[in-house]
Amino acid sequence: MDTVQAQSRHPKGLWVLFGTEMWERFNFYGMRALLTLFMVNSLLIKEADAAIIYGGFLALCYLTPLLGGFISDKYIGNRNAILVGGSLMAIGQFLLFISASTFSANLGSAKLIMWLALFIIIFGNGFFKPNISSMVGSLYPKEEKSKLDSAFTIFYMGINMGAFLGQFICPYLGDVKDAATGARDIFAFKWGFLAASIAMIIGTVTFFILKNKYVVTPEGRPIGGLPKNNTSADFEDGETQTANFSGKSIGIAGFLFVTLFFVFRYVLVGEFGFTSVEMGKLIKGIIYPFIYSAGISLAFLIMSSAENKVERQRIWVIYIVSFFIIFFWAAFEQAGSSLTFIADNQTDRNILGWNMPPSMVQIFNGIFVVALALPFSLLWDKLRAKGKEPVSPMKQAIGLGLIALSYFIIAHNVKDLGNTGLLAIKWLMLLYLIQTMGELCLSPIGLSLVGKLAPKRFASLLYGVFFISNAAGYALAGSLGAIIPATGDKFEKAEKLGINLQDVLDKKVTLTTEQVALFEKEQIPIENT
Ligand code: GLN
Repeated sequence: MDTVQAQSRHPKGLWVLFGTEMWERFNFYGMRALLTLFMVNSLLIKEADAAIIYGGFLALCYLTPLLGGFISDKYIGNRNAILVGGSLMAIGQFLLFISASTFSANLGSAKLIMWLALFIIIFGNGFFKPNISSMVGSLYPKEEKSKLDSAFTIFYMGINMGAFLGQFICPYLGDVKDAATGARDIFAFKWGFLAASIAMIIGTVTFFILKNKYVVTPEGRPIGGLPKNNTSADFEDGETQTANFSGKSIGIAGFLFVTLFFVFRYVLVGEFGFTSVEMGKLIKGIIYPFIYSAGISLAFLIMSSAENKVERQRIWVIYIVSFFIIFFWAAFEQAGSSLTFIADNQTDRNILGWNMPPSMVQIFNGIFVVALALPFSLLWDKLRAKGKEPVSPMKQAIGLGLIALSYFIIAHNVKDLGNTGLLAIKWLMLLYLIQTMGELCLSPIGLSLVGKLAPKRFASLLYGVFFISNAAGYALAGSLGAIIPATGDKFEKAEKLGINLQDVLDKKVTLTTEQVALFEKEQIPIENT
């Protein structure tokens, strides 16, 4: 298909969804750029714990779309779900702004506000993300479904233009260093979160205003309205077949789900720990069992209802692919944790005389997606015309190979640095370039592979499985990020000064004036607690 030509024939509604998703990803990725650095520097959370909290948070963001998709399909429709999700995320970001504005007055309540903010964003994302993507699909009537590949390529560019803008503006406002001392302004994070909140408000309001005019069928009927009076039925593929599960299989799946949940929950976590440091581990302890048990129960349900061998084999392929992409996202999502810590503490970020803020370094992913998405889709078109296009699992294998390669390059370049040497930023740029090439081989391809292989009546469930594997990848990303030796950790810095920071936080010891001065020099904001 001629991708460039096809663009001009897309419905106007695609551009409304493009813009809405762009502002939403601005808010999400802008916040993601600052989150771990804010936790470590302002909220005095250890680097390893921040990595685990970050992974758990992202994992939950990719579990809630199951819920958001279900509620919208059954009760509120895509449009309302997008408005609810957008509003929740704007509120969540605003709460992060409050947390980042008040931590110096009351560290405990600032942490609590951060948890609440993350909780709200998790649900906001769950309402927003699946619904905006499925609306892209509903814009095209049956006979125009062939335009979907190019529509999703354009949409993926919208995602990454948003990521790019957010990862530029939020770090620009929120990750600021004093020019004279080179010390980080730990009070500036709040402006980045406020920008993220404003971006989400712009996206939600734009969608609210433009939806009735543009997100419609050619006859002007609304797409994504309430499920019961959704008038765009002729825009779906007309299949009304629904999955027919026997009561017994639902019962067994439910039993399996609950049993596995408890086994994993108690074997893996062992005990409840509700301090903020333990919270991240607790989230992980809930997420892993949920992911495993939901994945296994769904496999059981779907397999037991598969009609024939071909169907079973196709479902197996989806499961196998979903399993391998766990490792891709685990490696990819180091961007907001360990790679940001490395950019912060062990990288020479000088680009043509300008010192790039560490949280901005992840922007190269967005830049390279925007630059490469169209060339990649043209490349596949060209190879297809010659009959040489790799099959989808092969593309995904290439994606996995590329992400592995990106880390070999970094590993090779850091091995001689020692404790004080700095990594040149060009190596992180190269890492993001290779990772982006991997992402473009794996991420959009995986989504359409599920669409092609899944029997119609299980399509959304199997998309659910696919998203759960994203969530598993993110939870694993948190655990991997926690292994990297901490270099900017305030606890380790205090330890070097011979002081136990936890004791200070627990008010078991009081700092002398000299110690307060030392803490100030090391930028540990303890005088404020
Ligand atoms: N970067 C893409 C997005 O934000 C893909 C993320 C994913 O599929 N896990 O939508």
